[in-house]
Amino acid sequence: MTEPALKLVQVEKTFGKVRAVDQVSLDVGQGEFFSLLGPSGSGKTTLLRIIAGLETPGNGRVHVGGRDVTRLPPYARGIGMVFQDFLLFPHKIVAENITFPLKMQKLPASKKKEQLDWVLGLVRMEGFENRYPHQLSGGQKQRVALARGLVARPDILLLDEPLANLDLELRKEMEVEMRRFQAELEIPFIYVTHNQEEALTLSSRMAVMHEGKFEQVGAKLDLYNRPNTRFVASFLGSPNHILGRMKRVENDIAILDWKGLDLRIPTPSNSKTGDKIDYFLKHEKILIQPLREADLSRGKNRFECTLRDIIFKGQHSDYFVVLKNGEELVGSVAVDPQSLKIRQTVEVSWLPQDGDAFLAENN
Ligand code: ATP
Repeated sequence: MTEPALKLVQVEKTFGKVRAVDQVSLDVGQGEFFSLLGPSGSGKTTLLRIIAGLETPGNGRVHVGGRDVTRLPPYARGIGMVFQDFLLFPHKIVAENITFPLKMQKLPASKKKEQLDWVLGLVRMEGFENRYPHQLSGGQKQRVALARGLVARPDILLLDEPLANLDLELRKEMEVEMRRFQAELEIPFIYVTHNQEEALTLSSRMAVMHEGKFEQVGAKLDLYNRPNTRFVASFLGSPNHILGRMKRVENDIAILDWKGLDLRIPTPSNSKTGDKIDYFLKHEKILIQPLREADLSRGKNRFECTLRDIIFKGQHSDYFVVLKNGEELVGSVAVDPQSLKIRQTVEVSWLPQDGDAFLAENN
C-alpha cells in the first residue's frame, strides 16, 4: 500500500487555555488539492504551521511521504510554503527572493540556475529575474512567492490564504493558475482559506474546521450537498436558516411548525415531537414562480408569499420573499424571471430533502 503524501495523527496544540488544534488526524494523497476551510480563529493557520515545522505540536505526529518529520526543522521536511502577505525581501531582486530556500541545500550555481529557470517558466515570470519587489504588481509578487515555495521541488506545498491580498479579478485569474500549477506538479497542495468559494473552486477534498477540530472531511461535493453537522450546514453555501419545532414524524419525513406554517423536512436523527430543529436551505434549492391555482408540487414544500426585492447579481438574481408567517427567504432560481415584479404574489417550492435538518443546540 502506498503511503499518503501527508499523514497527521492526533495532532494537538494548546496556547494557554485555547485549544487551537484539537486531535486532528488526516491523510492527504499524492496530487490532491486539499483545503482547510473555517472561520477566523478555527485553527487553520496553526495546523498549517505545525505541518510546516514552524510550530511544535503538544501531541501527535506529522508524517511526510511515510517519514515521521515531527521533530525535524522546517527546511528538512521537503515542504514549500506560500503566505498571504508574500513576505518577499524588499532589497533582494526576484531571482534572489526565489532561490532563497535553496541556500540550505548548498547546490552548485548551475543547478540553482536550472531550478530558477524551471520555476520562472512555471509561474510565467521569465524576464523579471532582476526586478525588485516594489517594481512588481500584486499578482506578480504572488507569483514570485509561489515560485519561492516551489523552487526546491517540495513534496508538499502549503498555502496560507495566498490570494487574500489580491483584488477579485486577479484572484479569479490566480485560482485558475493555481489549479494549473498543481496539475502540472502532481504534488499535494494544502490550502488554508476562510473563503468557501475559493475552497470549493480549487480543491478536490476539504476539511471544515471549527474550534480546532475537523467538523467534516471529504470530497467537496459531499460536504456541500451532505453536511454532517449543523455547523457545516450553516457554514457552506450561506443558506437560509429556518428554526422550528417538531410537530410529528411521518417515517423519514417530519412536519415542523415554522411559526404557524407546516414545513416538511427530513427527520433529523434522535429527534422527537416538541424538539427545536434547525433547517438549512440553500438559495439555489428554492424555486420561485408566479402563484398557480392548483398545487402541482407533489411532496414538496409550497408556500404563497410576496416578492419583496430582486437583486441582480450578474449570473443570477437573489429573490427575497416574505411568507405568510412574516419570515423571509432568499431564493435564486426563478421560472420565467422576466415576468416577476416586486410586490407580486408568488409561490416558492422545494423538496424536504433539499435542506439539511439538525437538532437545535439549545433544546
Ligand atoms: P484566521 O483565519 O483568522 O487566520 P485561523 O483559523 O487560522 O484564523 P489560528 O490562527 O490557527 O486560526 O488560531 C487558532 C486559535 O489559536 C485562535 O484562538 C488564536 O487566537 C490562537 N492562537 C494562534 N496562535 C497563537 C499564539 N502564538 N499564541 C496564543 N494564541 C494563539
